[in-house]
Amino acid sequence: MKSQAPYPKSYSFEFFPPKTETGREKLRQTYQQLGTLKPCYVSVTYGAGGSTRERTFQAVSDIKEGGLPVAPHLSCVGATRQTLREILNHYKSQNIRHIIALRGDLPSGSHQVGELRYANELVSFIREESGDHFFVEVAAYPEFHPQAPSAEADLKNFKRKVDAGADAAITQYFYNPDAYFRFVESCEKMGLELPVTPGIMPITNYQQLARFSDACGAEIPRWLRWRLQDYGDDIQSLRAFGLDVTTKLCADLLEGGAPGLHFYTMNQAGPTMAIWERLGLKSSPTK
Ligand code: FAD
Repeated sequence: MKSQAPYPKSYSFEFFPPKTETGREKLRQTYQQLGTLKPCYVSVTYGAGGSTRERTFQAVSDIKEGGLPVAPHLSCVGATRQTLREILNHYKSQNIRHIIALRGDLPSGSHQVGELRYANELVSFIREESGDHFFVEVAAYPEFHPQAPSAEADLKNFKRKVDAGADAAITQYFYNPDAYFRFVESCEKMGLELPVTPGIMPITNYQQLARFSDACGAEIPRWLRWRLQDYGDDIQSLRAFGLDVTTKLCADLLEGGAPGLHFYTMNQAGPTMAIWERLGLKSSPTK
């Protein structure tokens, strides 16, 4: 398969906004350590319904002051246009030029739907409000979004986001590279030319990974689930095995033409550093 992007590979790291001062200090150490790898950018998640708004602002501003290019996530569920406009203006005033646009998921039972229903509407809104100020990335699901009625419908919905003006996409994490390559092929067949960067979740803790996967619908293949379960409390062996599995996944993806890797770091530098070193990766080119 041909490489998706005519430029060198792009590497990025994702963080969540910490809740405490201790977490803030830990995040500072993490991005300083990962910053030595010269990522293309790092991103900071945003709680659906605005639950982390101030903490996301704080983390974005801390990271920016620390000298790293940063891309905030922004989700539209539960938000009014006016709130979204204020957030975009806040980022513009900080000279942030890169944003990850998402729908988000409200906690079950919440009735606060918001004025925009889907991420394609958020991408359109960002373009209406800000023209080309932001480089806009969206989410992609090689194993399909859990609420999609069919694979075809989900692909069409992905296309809506690109048609609305998305520049690039980052995938949900997955452990089956074929799903990614098939997804990219489907995008090419639909005439979509944007880079789709695989999201990589390092494996360090089976219970945590299973919990996340159940919550977001990401699939852990049975062979992997069973192997991980077998390690029980032997965390060291589980991590060594997890490192083998994720390093091989990353190597296969890069070799097959993926335009880069986006690591879900969980605010830990170690697991991502370990994969990076095993892969013998070079730093991202400076933008
Ligand atoms: P959409 O693209 O809107 O899709 C959601 C569902 O609706 C899909 O099933 C799709 O097929 C369907 N759909 C889409 N458009 C239409 C339409 N016009 N008509 C009918 N159906 C439609 N969540 C957060 O809360 N904060 C974050 O910071 C965050 N970061 C993320 C980063 C990445 C890289 C990824 C992959 C996910 C992230 N998420 C985050 C999770 C994300 O919000 C959820 O997966 C959410 O369920 C879907 O968001 P989306 O932007 O993909 O939604």
